[in-house]
Amino acid sequence: MSTVLTTPDPHRRKEDAILDQTLRPQRWEEFIGQGPIKNNLKILIAAARHRGESIEHVLLHGPPGLGKTSLAHLIAREMNTNIRVTSGPAIERVGDLASILTNLLPGDIFFIDEAHRMNKLIEEVLYPAMESRTLDIIIGKGPSARTIQLELPPFTLIAATTRIGMLSGPLRSRFGAAFRLDFYSAADIGMVLERSCRLLGVQADPEALAVTAAASRFTPRVANRLLKRV
Ligand code: ADP
Repeated sequence: MSTVLTTPDPHRRKEDAILDQTLRPQRWEEFIGQGPIKNNLKILIAAARHRGESIEHVLLHGPPGLGKTSLAHLIAREMNTNIRVTSGPAIERVGDLASILTNLLPGDIFFIDEAHRMNKLIEEVLYPAMESRTLDIIIGKGPSARTIQLELPPFTLIAATTRIGMLSGPLRSRFGAAFRLDFYSAADIGMVLERSCRLLGVQADPEALAVTAAASRFTPRVANRLLKRV
């Protein structure tokens, strides 16, 4: 069963990514379980809409495959904005971050997956961007170096991490809201599987679904991968 989570074969990894995308919930009603988080997010969204502003920066944490990326997409959909997706290790240089931030449109969601793997230099550029929507860029080197400050459009940073303990205190403190996703109940995993069967056009007998759910480690992504492989 351990092969389900470890997918060293790039072809299989790509297949799994496609499966994730195909089965990603598109509406709140399709996002099963995690009731308290959904309710809190809905309140945040309604309040932001009422103020005519972007929602506060949101930190989502918890084990892989529990729905952090799906929630980020749902928030963007609900706010009717674009979502720009990247991951901590993909932002290699300050210039990479600057280019993303300066290309955001007002209200956009900027989603950073695996935020704990972000380089500290990049984090430091992110602080003023999160706090006061400014980007400090150093031009030149040595004594002639100077800093210019760019103003950014209003945006929401959503960061996801599986390792909250590895996130620095200063970064954590800059999020307006933080939510920890929990493992799903067996009943919720059953509902995830039923939905996936419908979307994939698969007919499965209830006993087979129960066995699949029991082997899913209470994690939707694992349940879906198992379903696909059986
Ligand atoms: P994470 O970002 O936490 O690793 P994802 O959001 O990528 O997890 O979820 C992986 C897949 O699991 C999604 O594509 C979706 O198919 C399924 N999934 C996750 N959470 C839910 C949920 N609450 N309801 C239905 N499907 C879910």
